[in-house]
Amino acid sequence: RDWSSDVCSSDLACYRLCNLQGWEDLIFTHMSARVPGGEGHYLINPYGALFDEVTASNLVKIAADGTIRNGSATTMIDRSSRPRILVGTTNPHKVVELGALLDGLGCQLVLPTDAGLEGFDVDETGDTLMANAILKAMAFAARAGMPALADDSGLEVDALGGEPGVRSRRYAGDDASDADRIALVLSKLDGVPVGSRTARFRSVIALAEPGRLVGTGTGTVDGVIGDMARGTNGFGYDPIFLMGDRSMAELTPAEKNATSHRSRAVASIRPILEAWLSAQGHVGDDAMPPRT
Ligand code: IMP
Repeated sequence: RDWSSDVCSSDLACYRLCNLQGWEDLIFTHMSARVPGGEGHYLINPYGALFDEVTASNLVKIAADGTIRNGSATTMIDRSSRPRILVGTTNPHKVVELGALLDGLGCQLVLPTDAGLEGFDVDETGDTLMANAILKAMAFAARAGMPALADDSGLEVDALGGEPGVRSRRYAGDDASDADRIALVLSKLDGVPVGSRTARFRSVIALAEPGRLVGTGTGTVDGVIGDMARGTNGFGYDPIFLMGDRSMAELTPAEKNATSHRSRAVASIRPILEAWLSAQGHVGDDAMPPRT
């Protein structure tokens, strides 16, 4: 399955779970998993409590031979009463990463498509990542009538004077692909020696309620721009962003989430999120059964 387009919410949850668990032998359909060649649907992810309830302990894993290998449907946790936060992005890769990074906070993450916001997007008219993150969080929160998180991120290449920076998404034109953007950066760095190809990813995350900015968090990660694209994980400029001897696209999702600009931005906004959740009367994940 090509996950890069037309990814629905339950697919994303399952995709994330498979990444976390290293499971590869399930075929997911909308709300269920199907054994290749087998009959019927099994389990899974009760709609409306996206991400949080999808864990090894509450998902029945059905092996390719049809046997149930682990997990138990009886440990399903109902988190539908938790505070809902809209993930204000149309980028499915960001949704997956943010879903994993916000795991355990104890909120319900809601996708724009689940909040009636199909096709809704926000023009990034700000001059900075901070301005755009705030713009997006405020716009999504106002439109959905619920709290929203938004992330604005970019790649800064020192030899290009900090470009593409805040223009990372539009760097090669509005309709360009990740491959086009990568090709443009590589061509601009043609002949630039390795020691001068330093760069960083920067991410800003904002949390807003309708009409009110709650807070922001920031994170950066340093690297070097390689001379060719490497790896198939991640998205965007990951294949040319080297951290040590591997590109970010050669890291597993868990490895990327352990070090990325986005994970650092989430860590930076986490106290704000926790304070906000406790102000909503939320008791925290510790009250929940342990995960496996
Ligand atoms: P925006 O935050 O949606 O404006 O995204 C800006 C652009 O930066 C994206 O289209 C990607 O090309 C790039 N980008 C953002 N986050 C990442 C990341 O985690 N890895 C690689 N590229 C990223």
